[in-house]
Amino acid sequence: MRTSRTHQPLTYDVRLPDEAQADALRLLDASREVVNTALTLLWPQLDDFQADRVGPAWKQVGKYMGSPQYHGDRQWRCESEVVGRILRAQAERKQAFELVTPILTDGFIRPQTEQRPAGKKRAAIKEALSTLQRNLEEEETSFVALQNVVEQCCNFFFAHDRFPSTYEELQPLPLLKVGLLTYAGDDGPEKGQAYRLALDLDAGVARFRFRYPDEAGVWHWRKVDTIIPLPDAVRERLKAGELMAPTLREEHRADGERFAVLDFIVEVEKADLPAWESVERVLGADWGVHTLLTATAVDEHHKQVGRPMFLNTGGFDGRQARTRRQIDELKKKVAIYEQQRDGLPSDHPKRPWYNQRLALYRRELALCWRKYEQRNRAMAHLASNVLVLLARVHGCSLLSMESLKTLKSTGRGKGVRGRWRNYRNNSTIRGEIWRLLRYKCHLIGLRFHTEQPRGTSHTCPRCGHPAKTYREPSDRQEAVKWGRWMYCDDCHYHGDRDYCASVNIARLGVAYLIQMKQTGKARSCSISDPRVKPVSYTGAGAVLLLPPTGNHPARTIRGKICYYPGWLGSAFLQSSQKKSVFLRLCG
Ligand SMILES: [Zn+2]
Repeated sequence: MRTSRTHQPLTYDVRLPDEAQADALRLLDASREVVNTALTLLWPQLDDFQADRVGPAWKQVGKYMGSPQYHGDRQWRCESEVVGRILRAQAERKQAFELVTPILTDGFIRPQTEQRPAGKKRAAIKEALSTLQRNLEEEETSFVALQNVVEQCCNFFFAHDRFPSTYEELQPLPLLKVGLLTYAGDDGPEKGQAYRLALDLDAGVARFRFRYPDEAGVWHWRKVDTIIPLPDAVRERLKAGELMAPTLREEHRADGERFAVLDFIVEVEKADLPAWESVERVLGADWGVHTLLTATAVDEHHKQVGRPMFLNTGGFDGRQARTRRQIDELKKKVAIYEQQRDGLPSDHPKRPWYNQRLALYRRELALCWRKYEQRNRAMAHLASNVLVLLARVHGCSLLSMESLKTLKSTGRGKGVRGRWRNYRNNSTIRGEIWRLLRYKCHLIGLRFHTEQPRGTSHTCPRCGHPAKTYREPSDRQEAVKWGRWMYCDDCHYHGDRDYCASVNIARLGVAYLIQMKQTGKARSCSISDPRVKPVSYTGAGAVLLLPPTGNHPARTIRGKICYYPGWLGSAFLQSSQKKSVFLRLCG
């Protein structure tokens, strides 16, 4: 796939209609077999994919081998494109491995103690990698790629008590676990010899036809077009973007169901990122302890702009936890019924009864999972939209985001079990929000930078001194690490811990911004770095730059709670903004 500075591919997966599922899955099974055979054969020649990386991947694979199971020339091209892409990516990782091998040391490993299992010394790893990267000619290998390989090496160390000596020892053969077939090796949507794809934007559908093996293993073209209704988002994107060759892919649900989806890939122009000189304000966002997200804007003169935004998900968490419990109970029932059924002789008359019950439970289980995942996706979309919108409203061109690595317990929910459930689901949502945000920032031209959250909840944003947190604003007898109220002994400032943390994340972002402006280079600071200045809040400059209001589906506002459409009635937004402002913020 073409990757460039100016364009960005966006992927939208659409489940194929039921009538095409069986044929598509058979096609995916057949091509997976070919891909995996080819991977196995070419794995010893991984180095060739390091050096010679010009032209399409299928051409390169074609130099070394023909199809192990020939199902047509273009079918093989598509399959070998998948093979080549995987090998090129692996070759790149091998290069990273060769870079880090000389610096691998026991110093990265925290030995096992009685209380804790062995772990990684992340600070030591980070420092060593930063040094390594400074010595590289160019930044040819990204920090994240290097870090990723080092972590994998450490995991190897835990299992074998030594570091791997070759990449092949570290990385098992990367066989496909589920079917994946890109049509990029074929001749395009009109002339393709493995697929055809025609768009009818007025009718809002795509007509898809593909070659597949039938139950006897004989390959045919499908006799009829498969009509795929296009989601609104795809139609919208296609107006400005270019449709790339799609990818056919197999997906597995948590309940074991498998089905084929077609990834529509639309290449759109990336918005230009604003020049650093023009960036004046930073929006700092923190994964809260008591809220899902808290965000505050700060300008380059260390003044807070506007009020903070809290994204609270109280009702949502409860619903997700209940659905999760329902899933666990259904799973338990299924296990019991299976056991009882299997205990019966194979001709027992009660067996069909058990099978019927089991089918019923499994269907219910699938429904629960779908509901659960749908809610998470809806929440992640809303949260990322709110953040992007908030950045716009406050005129921020840099989004300073707490890193994903540290997941805090939410502290909500009764008892350890409840807390763990929220925690578990929150980490899923955070990952999702994170991905969406990166993606959206690129699209609309918003700078995005991550900050390490160390100490951000225990530093006073007004004077920069370390501060403690307490359970209640009124009760400062005993400092509690997860307490929701921060109090500064130096300047007597106090405030909600999540809010303080979001200001601190913004302060880190401002320090980064100022370095960028002064020297064109920057490194993330720690919160105690003198370059990270205290922030004041006078309320001046807090005027919001509001987007124009438009026609949107009605929201229900009760008091300070805004029930957002598309929310499935399960979550609400809360803000310290005035109601009128908040309404417009919600779109
Ligand atoms: Zn203070």
